[in-house]
Amino acid sequence: MSQINHTEVAIVGAGIVGLAHALAAVKRGYKVTVFERNLAAVGASIRNFGMVWPIGQPTGKLRDRAIRSREIWIEIAEKAELYHDPSGSLLLAYRQDELDVLEEFMAFNKNNSEIALLNADEVAKKSNAAVTESLLGALWSRTEMTVDPREAIQKLPTFLANNYPIKFQFGKTVNAISYPNLQVGNESWTADRIFVCSGADIETLYPDVYAESNITKVKLQMMRTKPQPEKWRLGPSLCAGLTLTHYGSFNNCQSLDALKRRVEIETPHFLEWGIHVMASQNGLGELILGDSHEYGLNPEPFDRAEINDYVLDYLQKFAKFPSIAIAETWHGVYAKLPGKTEFIAEPEPNVILVNALSGAGMTLSFGLAEENISAFI
Ligand SMILES: Cc1cc2nc3c(=O)[nH]c(=O)nc-3n(C[C@H](O)[C@H](O)[C@H](O)COP(=O)(O)OP(=O)(O)OC[C@H]3O[C@@H](n4cnc5c(N)ncnc54)[C@H](O)[C@@H]3O)c2cc1C
Repeated sequence: MSQINHTEVAIVGAGIVGLAHALAAVKRGYKVTVFERNLAAVGASIRNFGMVWPIGQPTGKLRDRAIRSREIWIEIAEKAELYHDPSGSLLLAYRQDELDVLEEFMAFNKNNSEIALLNADEVAKKSNAAVTESLLGALWSRTEMTVDPREAIQKLPTFLANNYPIKFQFGKTVNAISYPNLQVGNESWTADRIFVCSGADIETLYPDVYAESNITKVKLQMMRTKPQPEKWRLGPSLCAGLTLTHYGSFNNCQSLDALKRRVEIETPHFLEWGIHVMASQNGLGELILGDSHEYGLNPEPFDRAEINDYVLDYLQKFAKFPSIAIAETWHGVYAKLPGKTEFIAEPEPNVILVNALSGAGMTLSFGLAEENISAFI
């Protein structure tokens, strides 16, 4: 009879959701094994902006979760010596309807001392990159932080394995689960608890559960510049009016409807491709630029040059950089459950699916993982 391996907690997937659950479980005293089908995780987590973005989360449980995640990012990034820049963010408003939303947002959040509405002169003091001509105002928020996903998702497994009882099994696909058994290639494993953090792979494990859930996929196109010359730094991450239509934190502003109607009439291509435009910078001085959102279970494998052109065109209306020379383009795909901020299911006792953190996995995973480990173990 072939040998059966055992682990206290099995995690499927070494993206940010899997890594966060592994960390939360060891902090509670459990021994963990992480199974990742690829030789290194190459899913949504390594392909993103690296923006830890609490200001995009509605006040309350989600904002608190984002702030807790940020604390954990700082703690782990310091220990693992990972790039992290708590430089905050600026959302720039050039149209009256954009400023109306920011003013309404400020009224809802008047007790939040982490944010402020700035005028053009104040913006110029915080950012070399923001275009201040015709700028009506900007939402400054100090809670946003940038990490480098290429560095963090690659290095975190080694850091975790060296410092905690976590073992990584790379190049090992979990083909089937029937609690307490996991079939991992031709190996048999058992686990006391199993967390399935398989990201956009909703076809391999529990496909029926996913099929019933209304989950879908979202494809995003991204770009990266060459390092900026002479160690030029972006400072706060930048975005502008289109971002108001994207994040849930602005949804309760009534003035948002007028802005959305104007965008629909003036620039329908932004809505057609789900474009809103943001810029962050990594420790190498490269700018990470994006993005678009295309929805559907079978994302188009090919990228559209016109989407990148739309992004660059809009970007240059609100931001100026020493160099916009593009070094790389790519796309990423994440899972999303429309109307929800995550998908959690227990298809059989002690097997927990954690998925569909949508565009906020870097922002919310560490906090969510702590909540899940206390709730399910
Ligand atoms: C372009 C882009 C930009 C984004 N920008 C941001 C941002 O700035 N801030 C933010 O907060 N969020 C951002 N997001 C969202 C964030 O990246 C995702 O929410 C997050 O990465 C999802 O993490 P995950 O672990 O669920 O998925 P993944 O990173 O895709 O990881 C899932 C892993 O599971 C593995 N796997 C799947 N099935 C199996 C199996 N059966 N056996 C073994 N292994 C398996 C896969 O190989 C994969 O490595 C962005 C996403 C994209 C695509």
